[in-house]
Amino acid sequence: MCNYIEEKKMVIEAGKKMLNSGLTVGTWGNLSVRTKDKKYMVITPSGVDYEKITPEMMSLVDMDENLVSGKKPSIEAGLHLGIYKNREDVNAVIHTHSIYTCTVAATREDVPPVLDEMAQIVGGGIKTAKYGLPGSPELARNCVEALDDRMAVLLANHGGVCVGKDLQDAFKITNVVEVSLKSYCLAKAMGNPVALDDKDVDFMRDFFLNKYGK
Ligand code: 13P
Ligand code: ZN
Repeated sequence: MCNYIEEKKMVIEAGKKMLNSGLTVGTWGNLSVRTKDKKYMVITPSGVDYEKITPEMMSLVDMDENLVSGKKPSIEAGLHLGIYKNREDVNAVIHTHSIYTCTVAATREDVPPVLDEMAQIVGGGIKTAKYGLPGSPELARNCVEALDDRMAVLLANHGGVCVGKDLQDAFKITNVVEVSLKSYCLAKAMGNPVALDDKDVDFMRDFFLNKYGK
């Protein structure tokens, strides 16, 4: 069987980048990719320092959540798998505990699309999934439901989840979401952020997906 070494190395590098760019602290958060053959996901092991993860430690998990090789997978393996099963377009999932994402998640409120880049990159506003304990099937279900067809979702009182067609895409979305939520917090402190019109959101999403840079 293929050992998916490239996928493992890619996720390890992204994990270090996530930690060193302040998108998480300690061992919180987790990252995964779906393998190209769509049979498995490669996910960070549970509770291991990002700087110390080796390819051998990376967890290879099948679509029924059985561990195939590596250390015990992230406690959010079920959440990552739930997303892959519900979204054919998604091949990478990043769960962060970044400061502005967590700040907004603590309010349990949905975020309206208040910035153009939210419309372009996320596909609109960002919903907050109903509360579920970390690692629980309930959290996984609530996350998949609130994510729907968007590229980002918040987990109540916990953090955020961003998805992408590949790891690079998911990482970009993670950064845009964190910066957008920083702006949102500042705008809330100044007054009332104004939501974009639905038709403008749709126009920008379509432009971004089909015309931008092409
Ligand atoms: P893991 O170390 O098991 O991935 O848990 C971290 C986390 O953020 C749980 O929500
Ligand atoms: Zn978490």
